[in-house]
Amino acid sequence: MTKHDCIFCKIAAGEIPSVTVYEDEAVRAILDLAPANPGHTLVLPKEHFDDSLEMPEEILGHAMAVGARIGRAQMEALDYEGFHLLQNNREAAGQSVFHFHLHVIPRRKEDGAMGLWKPGHPGSEELAETGEKLQTALSI
Ligand code: AMP
Repeated sequence: MTKHDCIFCKIAAGEIPSVTVYEDEAVRAILDLAPANPGHTLVLPKEHFDDSLEMPEEILGHAMAVGARIGRAQMEALDYEGFHLLQNNREAAGQSVFHFHLHVIPRRKEDGAMGLWKPGHPGSEELAETGEKLQTALSI
């Protein structure tokens, strides 16, 4: 199903033009209009899902597999050394378009294109406590 006021639904359906680098029956991959590096690509499912929490595992897995193929192509065709597969869920995590999209961001060493997280320094007790909470949530 698509959502009528969703721009990525329209792009994925080909109703709004995009630079498409890959397409199959389930996804369309397009160049990001504001790339972190040239070749930065977004993998969009053709069906509407707000984020990964709504997606069937099969489509989620397919999007990741397509992303990895695109990452390989970025390295081979555009001379990159690596890439991120990155996906934001919810506003607090930086999501700005609420139709699932997987970023494939090509990288070279020390290109300064992205900031990564600030590493924390939890003690072993805090690690164990956090782990227990997640194990409990995941076993439900
Ligand atoms: P996020 O912050 O994870 O939701 O990422 C949204 C991404 O979509 C950003 O990198 C935008 O540059 C990109 N974007 C927004 N609108 C378009 C569009 N019409 N075509 C291509 N990329 C877009």
